[in-house]
Amino acid sequence: MASVRLDQLRKVYPNGHVAVEEASFEIASGELMVLVGPSGCGKTTLLRMIAGLEPISAGTLSIDGRVVNEVAPKERDVAMVFQNYALYPHMTVAENLGFGLRLRGAARDEVARRVREVARTLELEDRLDARPAALSGGQRQRVALGRALVRDPKVFLLDEPLSNLDARLRVAMRVEIARLHQRLGATMVYVTHDQIEAMTLGQRIVVFDRGRIQQIDTPMNLYRRPANLFVAGFLGSPAMNFLRGTLRRDGGWRLETPHGALALGEPPAAPAAWAGREVVVGVRPEDLEPAPAAEAVLAARVEVVEPVGNEVFLNLRFDGRPLVARLPPRTLPAPGDTLPLRFAAERLHFFDAASGGRIG
Ligand code: ATP
Repeated sequence: MASVRLDQLRKVYPNGHVAVEEASFEIASGELMVLVGPSGCGKTTLLRMIAGLEPISAGTLSIDGRVVNEVAPKERDVAMVFQNYALYPHMTVAENLGFGLRLRGAARDEVARRVREVARTLELEDRLDARPAALSGGQRQRVALGRALVRDPKVFLLDEPLSNLDARLRVAMRVEIARLHQRLGATMVYVTHDQIEAMTLGQRIVVFDRGRIQQIDTPMNLYRRPANLFVAGFLGSPAMNFLRGTLRRDGGWRLETPHGALALGEPPAAPAAWAGREVVVGVRPEDLEPAPAAEAVLAARVEVVEPVGNEVFLNLRFDGRPLVARLPPRTLPAPGDTLPLRFAAERLHFFDAASGGRIG
């Protein structure tokens, strides 16, 4: 297995569009790194540069310490699994799995041995003679993974490999990929726009937006300490609530909004120097909790109640703005109710309203 290092990697398309701005990070040998971001943010472009399918405009790309900017895709020893993994319909599963190896001139016995090994790993042994049309969606996806696996590459690149599957299968395949990664100890770069997939699969995550890296960290660190408003709003479902206003200090901290003041208590994240400045305060839906009226910080009107079984999402309105709370399903308020809520000061996030950067 191999490490992958990006040094100020940049991509400008011939039409002048800057798809990736100076991306620098290293994927350790054996690491599963996820690149996540909204549609069009440049994550596929970045993956294709690693694969050698897209010329690099500037910067350096190294695999295992060797600069590969000018190295042809098939000399890089990477394998890519695409979102639209077209299997050859006229070939059996075994032939589909072995095709890449045969193309590279591997001996018949060797191809057969590798195909058997990979089929065992992916539990496809009893489907080796089937054609793709006879497979389930999950089996097809496993064959697509298997085609990358047979080559035993240094690095696996996966571009939204689960996005064509239905929700249930996606969850099952997500676990299979995590298991596969643990078993193989392979270096993997996994691109997705799905934050749940990113959070559950990634050992580390690169959050991307508009061609720029926003933050790189472990899933829980990203969730607990998002570096800016984009990361804070992108990771977490339902998304973090944002309240904008001016910070004031008199006794405790207050957030002054056009609709009135909100008592914030003594949040450890609020630095004294920020009194009088415009901020955005972030509260995760699970950090808003119903409280007796005397202890409440705000009272919000319930608009829509979404019970999802083990919890309830409450869509609320407070001072004309939408808020979401996430509660255990014990109490089910009704639409139209007014609900007193509080939050723990130490769970609040603070951002500079001008730059969006995290404070504290
Ligand atoms: P998605 O999840 O929708 O695939 P993405 O994050 O993978 O999005 P990319 O496919 O990397 O995004 O595209 C990044 C940006 O570059 C987009 O704005 C896209 O329109 C643009 N782009 C992609 N390919 C080209 C090209 N060949 N020429 C010009 N612009 C391109």
